[in-house]
Formats: sequence, C-alpha cells, structure tokens
Amino acid sequence: GGIAGMRCVKALQLTLAVVKPDAVAHPLILEALHKKILENFIIVRKKDLTWRTEESERFYAEHAGRFFYQRLVEFMSSGPMRAYILAREDAITHWRGMMGPTKVFRARFTSSDTLRGQYGLTDTRNTTHGSDSVESAKREISCFFPEFNADEWMLRKEPCFRLGL
Ligand code: UDP
Repeated sequence: GGIAGMRCVKALQLTLAVVKPDAVAHPLILEALHKKILENFIIVRKKDLTWRTEESERFYAEHAGRFFYQRLVEFMSSGPMRAYILAREDAITHWRGMMGPTKVFRARFTSSDTLRGQYGLTDTRNTTHGSDSVESAKREISCFFPEFNADEWMLRKEPCFRLGL
C-alpha cells in the first residue's frame, strides 16, 4: 500500500509531427504514415498546409548557414505538408524512434523498419519531422497551431475526431 504500492502512471506528452512534401505527394505513403500514427498516438490536431518560403526559413533558422539550409528551405515550401499534434507517454521519443535517423543512407541500412528507412528518398526528402525536446515541441506546436492551447487540451484530452476536427 501507500505510495510505494501505487502504479506509476506517466503523463501524456505532446509532440509535433510533420509529414513532409515528399511523402504527402504520394497518397499511398501518406496513408501508410497516417495509419501508423493512428496505431501509436492520440491525434490531438491535424492540419494540411503549404508554407511560403519565409515560413520555411523562420522554422529552420537554427540551420541557417549549414550546407543543406537552402535546399531544405526550398523543399519544405515546395508543396503541401500535413502537421499533427500527437499525444501519448513519451510522445517525443516515440515519434523520433518511429521516424528513424536523419540521413537516408543510415536509415536504409541500420533502421530499415523506420519511416525514413522505408520511405526516405534523400537526406533532405526524408518523409517526416518530429520535435526533439519538450521545449521545441512547445515552440513547434504553436508555430503550426497558433490557436491551440495545450493546458486547456490536457483538461479533457479529447482526440480531434471526437471534436469533429
Ligand atoms: N537535412 C538535410 N541534409 C542533412 C541533414 C539534414 O537536408 O545533411 C534536412 C533534413 O530534411 C532534416 C532537416 O534538415 O530532417 C533538419 O535536420 P536535423 O538535423 O534537425 O534532423 P531531424 O531532427 O529532422 O532528424
């Protein structure tokens, strides 16, 4: 009994997941990713959108000056994307694990069962994005879903389909 006997229930965590333009362009890949997401997370919000170049530049500002920055910025504003707010225990780590390594060569040969391992085309066109920390999840969620209030959502924890979104 007492605290020692209590089952430890970990808290729900939110993360931002993005299906990048290369994967959205292929309906079967988009469908496969969506199905895997449904099996693993509560979908809190879902939104299809296309970035202007400036939005892409702002989102990846931390990479400004890297050799792949220009290519990345152009790619991310090249066509429609799908953004999700996802919830589960350890959502950030779980989604990053499902995505796999950034570089497509590593993903293919060391993690062929990951999303990038299966569907990644190049180091830039690598199917998905996922927040890498609690702080970046917070920042990135508000970037894609400025109207979303995490504290308010945590009170009811309603998935988007039940809200009719
Ligand atoms: N990227 C690239 N070339 C590289 C490394 C990264 O084009 O050599 C792109 C790729 O699309 C990646 C994004 O830049 O997803 C952000 O890079 P980061 O290192 O943050 O990787 P991630 O967190 O997405 O795995």
